[in-house]
Amino acid sequence: MRVSSSWRWQLSRAMRLALRWCWLCRTQRGGQGGGTKAGIGGRLSEVWRYSKLLLKSLYFNSLNNSDTLLDCAFEPVYWIVDNVTHWFGVVFVCLVILLTSSVVVIVYLFVLPTIVSTYPAHWIVWHLCCGHWLLIMVVFHYYKATTTSPGHPPKDKSHIPFVSICKKCITPKPPRTHHCSICNVCVLKMDHHCPWLNNCVGHFNHRYFFSFCVYMTMGCIYCSISSRNLFLDAYNAVETYYQTPPPDYSFRETSAHKSIIFLWVLTSSVAVALGGLTLWHAMLISRGETSIERHINRKEARRLKEKGKVFRNPYHHGKMNNLKLLFGVQKRSHWLTRVLLPSSHLPCGDGIVWDCTFARRDPMAI
Ligand SMILES: [Zn+2]
Ligand SMILES: [Zn+2]
Repeated sequence: MRVSSSWRWQLSRAMRLALRWCWLCRTQRGGQGGGTKAGIGGRLSEVWRYSKLLLKSLYFNSLNNSDTLLDCAFEPVYWIVDNVTHWFGVVFVCLVILLTSSVVVIVYLFVLPTIVSTYPAHWIVWHLCCGHWLLIMVVFHYYKATTTSPGHPPKDKSHIPFVSICKKCITPKPPRTHHCSICNVCVLKMDHHCPWLNNCVGHFNHRYFFSFCVYMTMGCIYCSISSRNLFLDAYNAVETYYQTPPPDYSFRETSAHKSIIFLWVLTSSVAVALGGLTLWHAMLISRGETSIERHINRKEARRLKEKGKVFRNPYHHGKMNNLKLLFGVQKRSHWLTRVLLPSSHLPCGDGIVWDCTFARRDPMAI
């Protein structure tokens, strides 16, 4: 009450002073002979200054800076981009399902029959086991990554540990939580918003996302290697299509050639692109960082370096321990049951309270 009455008083005082100053200027100019060109120019500049003062007294905020102004100016652009990304997410998910299904169909129709008819028995068994294991792992982790909620801070609990307040949700933000402007919600241990999943990657689905990347890369490498000879044959055959006289291929054969070329090109390109992304995420996980924290930590490290201090990531527990924490590996058998086989176990912790490696000794870098 006191604060609001005080700023209103200050504002009315500023306006009174401005009005009095304008009136004084006008009377002085009037005495010196108003109506001249200089007088009109001076009066216009006074009106301009007075309007600026009025505007500032109405809208000025000490927290305003160029970033806030730019954010306000680009707000409609952000809104459009966020909404387009949100709706394109559905298209991207359909695309992933469609392309993966087409690869599986081509493998069943053309690659597996060739393997079964030409390879020795032990290689046939190996291909059948490896191919189906990779297919199950890809489908399981993609389904779980898309449908599992990444986790959000509880709105009803007011006593949770928090480091800041979200400007959009107006709720406390626990450590490692960030606001996703596409989902328009705060996400626990947010890594990024993935349009290919149409979901945020956060505390509860980070493992599913990373496992999907790993198994999808492995699946693509497997497909491109096992269909390499078929691809070379199909490529040579396609090159003869335009010879005269044209070769006598049946419809099934020409479809097989084109399908195998599509399969090899698609799986090889995805293996390279997704392989790079998977390695990048593996590096981040081994450092105990999310994609967002990577930028924050680099900035913080630079800032502390200027002060002669060394930045230490409080969530880094050692490379192997970080990977074990992500996969939920607590004993040796978990590598088989939780990493190499489909598993729906929950991640360690609730995503709100975090075990920091040196919080008690050195709270500086949190
Ligand atoms: Zn938020
Ligand atoms: Zn999101």
